Parts: sequence; structure tokens; C-alpha cells
Amino acid sequence: MEQKMLDCAVVGGGPAGLSAAVNLHQRGKSVRVLGAAPGFLEKAERVDNYLGLPGLSGGEMLRAFAGHAAQLGIRPEPGRVANILPMGDHFMLNFSGDILEARTVVLACGVAKAKPVEGETEFLGRGVSYCATCDGMLYRGKAVLVWGLSPEAAGEANFLASIGCRVRFVAAKRPETLDAAIEFLPGSLQGVGGGMKLEWARVAGQQHAADGVFILRAAIAPDTLLPGLSLANGFVTVNRSMATNLPGVFAAGDVTGAPLQVAKAVGEGLIAGLSAADYLSASGV
Ligand SMILES: Cc1cc2nc3c(=O)[nH]c(=O)nc-3n(C[C@H](O)[C@H](O)[C@H](O)COP(=O)(O)OP(=O)(O)OC[C@H]3O[C@@H](n4cnc5c(N)ncnc54)[C@H](O)[C@@H]3O)c2cc1C
Repeated sequence: MEQKMLDCAVVGGGPAGLSAAVNLHQRGKSVRVLGAAPGFLEKAERVDNYLGLPGLSGGEMLRAFAGHAAQLGIRPEPGRVANILPMGDHFMLNFSGDILEARTVVLACGVAKAKPVEGETEFLGRGVSYCATCDGMLYRGKAVLVWGLSPEAAGEANFLASIGCRVRFVAAKRPETLDAAIEFLPGSLQGVGGGMKLEWARVAGQQHAADGVFILRAAIAPDTLLPGLSLANGFVTVNRSMATNLPGVFAAGDVTGAPLQVAKAVGEGLIAGLSAADYLSASGV
């Protein structure tokens, strides 16, 4: 894995992220698109309101966008950004366990729709975590439960087992890549609870003792991803340059709010990409 400082890390490989990346590339900036899981557009049977390309399915449209980016050497990379840490003049991103450094960030991660389960918010940081590679070491030798909703979750559970956690994995179906030694519980996480710290998790109506619970959803709420980010009604607050309240961080697409439409995502991706390029140029990059 290449370790050099990137000009920009784009989080999310949907229409907004690809548009931002293409425009950063055209301005001569180095960029990687982190995240290649199918986003919302893949689910659209037919998109009739995107100018000039009526009648395509969402999948066809996404492949056209990805093909354009690929011609420039930009390929969304499979994985999940678990958190982003501001470091003064740059950012550190935990991307499926790899640490990447970037001077700017474009958040293009769509909408995070999940409702927290009972006790999740209350025990966040006191037993509930969204990132195995960030917090796993705190639970060595302890009982943890992993709720695997993202494609990378089995890998994160295997990592926890490898550092000595006693892991149980919860999902609708046992992933093929899950270590054979990890106990599998079919179902979904219904709630967590305890006293001063987390003590149990409930799955399919049954309470299981747990010191830690890792909730690994495909999408993470933007202010959990990047603490200090300003939100309004759950959407990232931006100005007309797609700049957020954090210098060097831009946002585009569904993550900034309605209308949740492809044309808006592509347009905002363009502005976020150009704004990030201007920001870099103003800093002498
Ligand atoms: C059924 C359906 C039909 C639709 N029909 C239309 C239509 O007809 N016309 C129209 O204009 N729009 C339509 N839309 C809406 C359209 O799909 C969205 O507005 C558009 O996809 C938004 O693009 P985006 O790039 O902002 O987000 P998305 O397309 O959601 O892409 C975000 C990407 O970021 C990734 N991601 C999220 N968090 C992380 C993370 N932490 N690390 C790495 N990657 C991450 C996600 O996996 C996803 O791939 C439809 C949506 C649906 C669901």
C-alpha cells in the first residue's frame, strides 16, 4: 500500500465522490477514492431525470461514471473509512486498518440511514465502538460481539480474534471469510446495556455477556467519522464552495442533504473537488 501524502482523500465512490475525484485529477492533484461498496444509485431501476442520459438504470449510470474515472486511473478502492483525525495541516484516515494521510478530505459518503439500537448512543466509548482497528486493543482477552453489516466486517472480526479477543459475530448469514473459530449468532443486534460500563448485548431476544460491542455498518454518521463536523438535521453543513466548518474538509452529494438526486451529487462533487484544489493551491501544493 502506497504511503505518500495524498492531496485529497475522497470518502465514498458514488456519483459525488467520483465527480470530485475526476475534477481534482484534472487540476493535477493526487487523489484516492476510498470505498467501493454499491451505493444508493445501484438500487435505482431507471433514472429519468439526469440531463442527457434518460432511461439508464442506476447500475448502468454508475458504471458510466466509474468508467470515466477509470480512464484517468481513478478506481474506487474497496474498504471502509472508520475515522478521520485532523492533524493540523493534514488528516489521518483509518481505511480498513490502513492509515492514510491526506492534505484535504472530500466527504461523499451518502446518507447514513441507520437508527441507533437501544443503548448504542449511551454506551458509545464505554463499550460500544465503530472501529475494530482503533479500539480492539482495549478488549484483549475480553468478550466482544461484532455486528457485521459492512462487507469488511468479517475481516475486522478476524483481526479482533487475532489480537486475543473472544469474538462472537452477529449477522443475517455467516460470511465465508469469517475465521472458523469465531462463534456465529444469526440475527441482528437489538440492544446493549450495563451499569458504569457495557455488560450485555441482546441478539434474537437472548442476552449475551459482552465487554465490548463493535457495530460495523457500511455507512457511519459523518460527525462520528470526523468529530467536530457541523451538522444540521443529520446532514453536513456546507457553504457554496462545499466547504464544511473544518478547514480542508469539503462535502458533496446526499451527505449534505436534499434534494437526494444524482445531478445534485455530481454538481456538488465538481464544486467540492475544485474547492479542494483551490485550497491546496493556496497552501502552496
Ligand atoms: C431506489 C432508488 C432510486 C433512485 N432514483 C433516483 C433517480 O431516479 N434520480 C436521481 O437523481 N436519484 C435517484 N436516487 C438517488 C441517488 O441514488 C442518490 O442521490 C445518489 O446516489 C447520491 O450520490 P452520493 O455519491 O452522494 O451517495 P451514494 O451514491 O450513496 O454513494 C456514497 C458511497 O459512499 C460509501 N461510503 C459511505 N460511508 C463510507 C465510509 N465510511 N467509508 C467508505 N465508503 C463509504 C457508500 O458505500 C457509497 O458507495 C435513487 C436512490 C434510490 C435508493
